[in-house]
Amino acid sequence: MRHLELPFTGPATFLKAPYRALTEPWRTDVAFLGLPYDFAVGFRPGARFAPGALRRASGRFAPGPAGFFDLETGGVLLRGVSLVDAGDVDPAQLEYRTSFERMTAAARELRRRATLPVFVGGDHSVSYPLLRAYDDVEDFCVVQLDAHLDYSDDRNGTRYANSSPFRRAVEEVLGLKHIIVIGLRGLRTNPEAYRAAEVRGHTLVTARRVRTSLDEVLALLPKDKKVYLSFDIDVLDPSLAPGTGSPEVEGLDYGEALALVGAAIQGNELIGLDVTEVAPNLDPSGLTSLVAARLLAEAVALWWRYREVA
Ligand code: MN
Ligand code: MN
Repeated sequence: MRHLELPFTGPATFLKAPYRALTEPWRTDVAFLGLPYDFAVGFRPGARFAPGALRRASGRFAPGPAGFFDLETGGVLLRGVSLVDAGDVDPAQLEYRTSFERMTAAARELRRRATLPVFVGGDHSVSYPLLRAYDDVEDFCVVQLDAHLDYSDDRNGTRYANSSPFRRAVEEVLGLKHIIVIGLRGLRTNPEAYRAAEVRGHTLVTARRVRTSLDEVLALLPKDKKVYLSFDIDVLDPSLAPGTGSPEVEGLDYGEALALVGAAIQGNELIGLDVTEVAPNLDPSGLTSLVAARLLAEAVALWWRYREVA
């Protein structure tokens, strides 16, 4: 079924991968899991619709048996990689603990079955329950591409919203040793969160610095590490990705973001990838979902290529 040619044909799964339930035994190179959860959004909701929208949009980037011809190198992308869509985690709506427990349990199952687990949010609060599923990993880094720090201790009395996932994660996941956040901007940075991140030794990089000194920023990325890559779509400029809850002007362009993704993957062991904060309902053009789907396909393609070379 996955070789149906046109983007809009067939059952909608990530990159037209076959669906396999997490209750069944299987093994694959890459598995996708949807997290249709946006109950932790502080501004404009809609990320609950992202897994469905990205499944539909990613039909355009389904590789097929021959893979894709790579214009840049003359090589082939995504040939021979096995992909699975493992479905969605059911949110328990307002019971965030139950929702998060389900996400952590599903992420552990995905890790057992896939060399590269790929998680599609959902708002960014999901990164905390996802990172809990890595509590057996002794030493790893998070590369967070985001306009926002997401490191508030609490906001409006809430400690588990999409403004706090990485604060909660470093408190609980002992193997998470370092975070680099790239793409920061806007007027709403919480100074307590900024200082707390600095004190803990996180590397904090603004979007302006990416624009003026991309090579310098690429050199800040970890090397020879286990890396979990967390991609908040709002790191991109809203002209590319308007469908998101908290857009910020002066964002990265796609080429800058992909260069950062590639440098985070190359020379490291990528242990997980999430893409969050796509709110398809806020972008009737569908552009945000297409951009996010292409990013998913290209990130997996880079991982597969560097893995073949290694
Ligand atoms: Mn975020
Ligand atoms: Mn953000």
